[in-house]
Amino acid sequence: MNVVFLGAPGAGKGTQALRVAQKLNLAHIATGDLFREALAKGTEQGKKAKPFIESGKLVPDEITIQMVLDRISAGDCKGGVIFDGFPRNLNQAEALDKALVKQQKTIDWVVYIKVSEKVLIDRLSGRWICRKCQAPYHNLFSPPKVAGKCDRCGGELYQRADDTPETVKKRLVVFESETAPLVHYYTKNGKLLEVEGEGTEDAVEGRIIDTLRKAAAKLQKK
Ligand SMILES: [Zn+2]
Repeated sequence: MNVVFLGAPGAGKGTQALRVAQKLNLAHIATGDLFREALAKGTEQGKKAKPFIESGKLVPDEITIQMVLDRISAGDCKGGVIFDGFPRNLNQAEALDKALVKQQKTIDWVVYIKVSEKVLIDRLSGRWICRKCQAPYHNLFSPPKVAGKCDRCGGELYQRADDTPETVKKRLVVFESETAPLVHYYTKNGKLLEVEGEGTEDAVEGRIIDTLRKAAAKLQKK
């Protein structure tokens, strides 16, 4: 079983991809990890990607795709794979499908973790930092005892520009515009499975595994 995980920033995609991979005994392939590994090992693709990564640019699709293909030919991917953070756009999705055909493989399912915009903004824009001692807080997950004040030193809490609701909204708009064509592509192919991403990590994991099992059972009946 080869599965792609999609989800907005803050939807818990990375966490769930890792959890579900462990539960179902699938290899977890995150492009961030691939880049780090390729750089550390100095592989051919790593050398090509290096200048882009070091200058903070996006690695070109053909390099990323080759890295992914090299990775899935490894032994631990025989039982199946969860792709986390790849494909990122339609070009990558089409290239991946073509390459998989050559290896007599296919993407079986695409799990799209859906979380409302309001919840995403609450999760992503909840981070506050103490001006004096840099202690981190989060409105939802680790709020300070007194709003706006550091528990440790009484310093004033502030938000980094990246964490303000305005910036977060912009990131979500970018995600939507990049992901909409992917969602359309996989829906058309009958592979998209939408899963409700709100609630505890355990609850979401349970929903994803349920959904994948049901989808696999349906396929077997055909
Ligand atoms: Zn402090």
